Amino acid sequence: MAYDYDLFVIGAGSGGVRAARIAANHGAKVAVAEEYRVGGTCVIRGCVPKKLLVYAARFHGEFEDAKGFGWTFPGADGGGEDAAFSWPTLIANKDKEIDRLEKAYRGNLERSKVEVLATRAVIEGPNTVRLLKDSRTVKAKYILVATGGWPYLPTLPGIEHAISSNEAFHLPHLPTSIAVVGGGYIALEFASIFNGLGVQTTLLYRGEKILRGFDEDLRDDLTAAITKRGIKIVTGATPTGIEGLGGASSAKTLRVRLSNGMSLETGGIMYATGRDPNTKNLGLDKAGVALGTKGEIKVDSHSCTNVPSIYAVGDVTDRVNLTPVAIREGHAFADTVFGKAPWSADHSLVPTAVFSEPEIGTVGLPEAEARAQHGAIDIYKTRFRPMKYTLSGRDERMLMKLVVDAATQKVLGCHILGPDAAEMVQIAAIAIRMGATKIDFDRTMALHPSAAEELVTLRDKWVPPATAAE
Ligand code: FAD
Repeated sequence: MAYDYDLFVIGAGSGGVRAARIAANHGAKVAVAEEYRVGGTCVIRGCVPKKLLVYAARFHGEFEDAKGFGWTFPGADGGGEDAAFSWPTLIANKDKEIDRLEKAYRGNLERSKVEVLATRAVIEGPNTVRLLKDSRTVKAKYILVATGGWPYLPTLPGIEHAISSNEAFHLPHLPTSIAVVGGGYIALEFASIFNGLGVQTTLLYRGEKILRGFDEDLRDDLTAAITKRGIKIVTGATPTGIEGLGGASSAKTLRVRLSNGMSLETGGIMYATGRDPNTKNLGLDKAGVALGTKGEIKVDSHSCTNVPSIYAVGDVTDRVNLTPVAIREGHAFADTVFGKAPWSADHSLVPTAVFSEPEIGTVGLPEAEARAQHGAIDIYKTRFRPMKYTLSGRDERMLMKLVVDAATQKVLGCHILGPDAAEMVQIAAIAIRMGATKIDFDRTMALHPSAAEELVTLRDKWVPPATAAE
């Protein structure tokens, strides 16, 4: 069969772009179709713009902290309350940076001789793709589906009043109050962003405790810290209806009825209740591609579907939904299929962060999971006030925790809450990936004064309070 391309990629996000470039560098003739903007979720409406908003929101606390170090600002007590903030300026500057990044991604693809097609693409058969913009079909030896995910919003009365993270990046103005629905990392991050920017923020979560799947100490300490910072957390409740109240755009314009019988009035409501794999109306059924219960594409360890010519990487496969993972999967696919060098992405020990305020960095097993998998484990943990907060007077503690296999002394997990937690955990992840033991951590000289030195000076095993009292 004559093919137009060796590889046709659907979706120019984290996974698709990496796969397209690497395959082209291996000599393949490659095209990528993108229906929105090159760069995908991470660059356009995910990790990157989110982190820029996180930086913006953190200045509020920084201004507060600066007082203790002798800084004053114009205004009543120099506490930063009078510092002026412009949401439109932040959004315009963020948009400029996203435009720059999109151009860079497009440039990289073009330099690799990848053809970029601005169109939605759907599958018509194992080797056939239809480009909707000019309604033509193309043939490819391999098709890679890298279409990512899409925010899930439930069906309930008034849901049209709700936004998702997609719209949060483009709000024309900040509301005075907002309800954020969800208990995962995106919900926590946006709740902290809004809170830091002075928006009265309520977090609504149907479960009992935020951040399911994370270490319990991280969940408890973050709950306490964000509550102290002014976020109201309502657990065990989920919206059952949203009603428009009319009135000024920045005032409380919505009434949200909750499953616990209560209701709240708010200026906005944002859903961050998960993301669905982007497989709807993609024509996967025409090629016979098997899907899982959430609509995710089922793949083997080489990202191959049940149809040998069709592969899938990234969020659309719902494995570990993070950018670096999608990139690795895309890279491994391209090397395996076009580079004669098969390998597959390793989904274990993936470090991850929650850019809430304070932030979380975590890698490896949470305590409960480690106990279930390994039986006897040792826990080392410390809570302390970061040095910067001594003069600033901020009443917030940092948490550092190591989960260690008792028999082998191998470090199984590292969990940090506090300033720069994400940066620290990225480095700790290298040691843990190499199989470092607690003794290796102990042998490492401390870097003083730093918060990270606590990781190598944790001497005493943590003993549960009940046992300690005996
Ligand atoms: P995507 O990057 O989503 O790319 C898919 C692309 O396919 C999109 O550009 C889409 O327009 C296009 N597309 C879809 N269907 C079609 C079609 N039929 N035809 C043509 N084009 C199509 N991850 C992290 O690691 N760290 C973070 O801090 C982080 N923060 C996040 C914050 C938010 C608010 C969100 C929503 C996500 C965040 N993520 C983060 C997750 C990360 O963005 C995703 O894991 C990553 O983008 C997945 O890459 P992907 O290649 O699978 O898909």
